Formats: sequence, structure tokens, C-alpha cells
Amino acid sequence: SLPSCECNSCYYGSDCSQFSPDCPADANSGDPLFLEPFWMKHAESSAVMVSGWHRMSYKFGYEHGTFISKELERHIRELHAMVGNANTTGKLMVFGTGSTQLLNAAIYALSPQDPPSPTRIVGSIPFFPFYQMETEFYNSKNFEWEGDTSKWKNKVLPSMNFIEFVTSPNNPDGELKDPVLQGPSVKTINDHAYYWPHYTAIPAPANEDLMIFTLSKLTGHAGSRFGWALIKDQVVYQKFQDYMTLNSMGVSRDTQLRALKLLNVLLAEGKELFEFGHRTTRTRWESLNKVMSASERFSLQKLTPQHSTYFQNITAPSPAYAWVKCEKEEDEDCYQALLRDGGIIGRSGSFFNAENRYVRLSLIKSQDDFDWLLQRMKTLVSQEQVHD
Ligand code: PMP
Repeated sequence: SLPSCECNSCYYGSDCSQFSPDCPADANSGDPLFLEPFWMKHAESSAVMVSGWHRMSYKFGYEHGTFISKELERHIRELHAMVGNANTTGKLMVFGTGSTQLLNAAIYALSPQDPPSPTRIVGSIPFFPFYQMETEFYNSKNFEWEGDTSKWKNKVLPSMNFIEFVTSPNNPDGELKDPVLQGPSVKTINDHAYYWPHYTAIPAPANEDLMIFTLSKLTGHAGSRFGWALIKDQVVYQKFQDYMTLNSMGVSRDTQLRALKLLNVLLAEGKELFEFGHRTTRTRWESLNKVMSASERFSLQKLTPQHSTYFQNITAPSPAYAWVKCEKEEDEDCYQALLRDGGIIGRSGSFFNAENRYVRLSLIKSQDDFDWLLQRMKTLVSQEQVHD
């Protein structure tokens, strides 16, 4: 029967229970729903109930002017110490509405005001597109988007102010990254959204002057919109505070309460979350690699096992995304030419300022999403062999 109009496009039948084989495999967004089973298991201990009269004030329960819950700050510091992924000693903390808000706050805080020429903002291709999009959207006289770091390697003059985004592990390719530019006029924003044991080995605690983390990829609660920055310099910290005050008067107190409850569970059961998370991403990566190894048209990024201080052994790669490359000369537009027609929804390379020969596929959505992606990919690869 035809899909009934009330069912979404992937289901049909009178009660929408029949899965349609025409449904595309949607591997587009980085929504980390792979962690949902952990939270279902811990439904009770992670639940939050807020009465109507509770936490109504702008500042209820918080220290003057900072808008942050000191209890939540303590939980975050304890979690970093437990995981060993960041050194928080001597660092100040600011919360943001997701790390998205903190990215621009960081640019504002690191750029000199009223400069002779705007601070140049750069990233290494392939990079997370929000760095460029936010910088251009705010259209400030203090900073402007400059593009790829490679253009400026070994060419930075002391009179030029630069801010380099360093994303480690990187979105989309999962590599651990170091800064490319050097010199006294270069500052870095270290985006560690994925520097957690589910996505990467943790070789050592990160210890840069400005680091950004997000609850979205740690616990999977992307919809709660909560991130934090660790900041060494007092003046930079003060500028962050000013930005947060004028931009939003701090993060929702309800969100802070939810984050507190979730981190409370992690401090008790974190090992279980990281083991489950890592096992899931690693298994997905292995399954996809197995399918792709039979292909001559597609390849995946190469990632190597590394020693993880968290698991205290060598851990196999477990990236959040597959960075697929179309190997054949004629497949310049990998997504349009191959994946889309094969029923796979992904993100083209140009989104990350790379060639369209690349496509990013998300490996962190629900198990059903991943299983369907794998099935679609198997079909594509087997068709390749029929054509040969
Ligand atoms: N940085 C990177 C590298 C990301 O991939 C993302 C989300 N995909 C973000 C920052 C923003 O995440 P959020 O605003 O949910 O914290």
C-alpha cells in the first residue's frame, strides 16, 4: 500500500509500522543519539523535576554576575580530572548556550578592540563551517574571516593578529590536531567538542589557554544547549563575561540544573558511559570499514590505534564521522553522483571548505540510522562489483 499521509516518509501501513525500503539512510547531522540507550538505562537517576516556583530569578542560587552554578562548575572540573582529558588547574570557567555561543564569544574575547586592521580568523581545511559562518555573520570591524591556515604557515608577521581554530579531534575527519600558525601575535581557540573517550584515544590532558567543550557530544544532550570554556587569562575571561552578559545574561538556569543532574550520573557511572560510547563508535567504524574495503570507488580516512590514558591501553579508532572520498577521477561530486542516488544523505565536502570529492557521514545517530546506512552502503558497493 502507498504511504498513508500521516506516516513519515520512511514508514507506511495503517499504523505506520512498515518500514519502506525506499527510505533514504540519513547520515547528515551530528546528532549524538547513539548515547540514548545509556540514558534509558539510567532514566531514574538522570531525571529532573522542576516545580513551577523553582529557580525563577535571574540570579537565583548563583554567585554575583557570573550566571554560573558553582556546583556545576565543580562537577565539570571533577569530570575532567576523572577522564584526564583537560587540565583545569588555574583555569577560569564560562558557560555558554552550547559551544556555538562560546565560539564567537572566544573570538570577541581574543580580538583587540579598535585595531589598525581586523584580527584574521583562520582554520585548517576541512573545518567545522560554523567558525567561518559565525565570523562573517557578526561582521565586526575587529575581526574577519581569513580562510585556510596553510596560506599563512611560516608567513605570520608580528604586526598581524591571528586567531586559529584548532579542532581536536577534528570535525569531519576525526584527526587529533595541533596549531599550524606560530608567533606572539597568534592565539588559538581549541575546540575539544570530541575530546572524550567515545570518539578518540586521550593521549594526554589538554592544557591550552582557551579550550571549549560541549555537553552535546559528551552526554548526547545536544538539545539542552550547554557548553563551557576553560580560560587561563583573567582579561580574556572578563571579556567572555561581558559577552555573555550582553548576549544572553548567561545560560538558562533550567539547563544548568539538567546538566548538573546528568554530570552527577557521569561522576558515578562515567566508565560505563565511555565504555558503551567507545564500543558503539568503534564497532560502527569497523563495520563500515569492512564494507568499504571491498570498494574501489570509495575510501575512508585512515586512522590509527593509539594509546589512551583513559582506557590505559591501545584503543582502536572510533570517530564520530566517516570522511568518505570518491577515488575515481570522474566522481568529482561524490555526493551528487553516487551517494544521493544510492539513497544516502550526507554532507558534501564543500560544506567543510574541502573538495566535493569528499562527503561526511555521521556515525553517531541512532542504531537504526546506522544499520540502514550500512545496508545502503553494502548495496552501493555490491553494485560496483556487478558493473565491473
Ligand atoms: N564544535 C564542533 C567541532 C562541532 O562539531 C559542533 C557541533 N556539531 C560544535 C562545536 C557546536 O556544538 P554545540 O553548540 O551543540 O555545543
